[in-house]
Amino acid sequence: MPVPIANFQLTQQQFDNLQAQSYLPDQAAVQRALTAAKPSFADLQALLSPAAGEFLPELLARATQLKRQRSGRTLSLFAPLYLSNLCSNECSYCGFSRSVAVKRRILTVAEALQETTAIQSLGISQILLVTGEHQRKAGVDYLLEVTQALRPQVARLMLESQPLDVRDYQQLRIAGIDAVMLYQETYDPQSYARHHTFGTKADMTNRLAAPSRVAQAGITQLGMGVLLGLADWRTDVLVLAQHLRHLQQHWYQLAFSVALPRLKPCAGKSTQQSGVSDRDYLQLLCALKIFAPELSLSISTRDSPALRDLLLSSIACSASAGSKTQPGGYTVSPQSLAQFSIDDERSPQEIAAMLRVNGVQPVWQDWHPVLGRYPA
Ligand code: SF4
Repeated sequence: MPVPIANFQLTQQQFDNLQAQSYLPDQAAVQRALTAAKPSFADLQALLSPAAGEFLPELLARATQLKRQRSGRTLSLFAPLYLSNLCSNECSYCGFSRSVAVKRRILTVAEALQETTAIQSLGISQILLVTGEHQRKAGVDYLLEVTQALRPQVARLMLESQPLDVRDYQQLRIAGIDAVMLYQETYDPQSYARHHTFGTKADMTNRLAAPSRVAQAGITQLGMGVLLGLADWRTDVLVLAQHLRHLQQHWYQLAFSVALPRLKPCAGKSTQQSGVSDRDYLQLLCALKIFAPELSLSISTRDSPALRDLLLSSIACSASAGSKTQPGGYTVSPQSLAQFSIDDERSPQEIAAMLRVNGVQPVWQDWHPVLGRYPA
């Protein structure tokens, strides 16, 4: 087994200092960052600053150019498959939190297969398995069982669950998981403590260390991100970029995707909002793409159709489509079990038609299970 590496760490003082600096760059700094051959963290700070808000068309043009250089005019489509809404954590913003009075459900393996068939009937064969964090009922044994059953049917299998141990990730890799998504939610220690008040997720250090465990287990595709609206978004995105660079220095073989969802209403929190406008969101996505063109930006159905049309046709590499965010959502479960509300309810076929009109090729699957596992 590879030797564990030093984990990424951040103090409140460091976060606060970065936040104070994030409002300082001027327009000259933004223009320098836009033309930098290899943007530095200072350049990223400039691209995330209020001054860069005046350069939105330039940011979008540069980010689009870099995306097309790297991955052409293509967009990969996937769908989430919610296996369970059981959760033993308390997160202030989530409808799956243990204290929220919703009906709880965990799919059987047979039900997960039915959901897979329903997703495939939409044309999608790249599936993200999602669970609430419940070690006892949705732990590694359950995840292994589901993975082994689904693996022969799908082109690509990704996992978003509670952080696991290296050995658990190794078992899941062998069983058929191609990629793991681990969202930090926020890098601001005070905000993290305020929003995660019970359960294993309250341990911020454990969560910060989890991406390294994925890499140690030999999984080569890692999804990261923050939930926009929990802390200062400029600083959260900057620190996310630092975390990514830290991991890249130690794990050269890792390919990264990034998702940056905005806080949305959910069960028990019907009015919560992120405070991050569409303009802010576009700016931060472009800034990150310019800083690290190798990152694959992933866009969820939380965003409006109009905004998704723009992002999916320009800077994004992958997007969910036709999503249901509740266990059993593609077959029977009512919307009331959903983790969060979605804005883009168009079918995958409608998304694909929109992409073609905009000159982008939808990618339903770029690998076939008959050829074996998705290549690393
Ligand atoms: S965000 Fe994740 S860990 Fe927190 S309550 Fe929701 S499902 Fe559970």
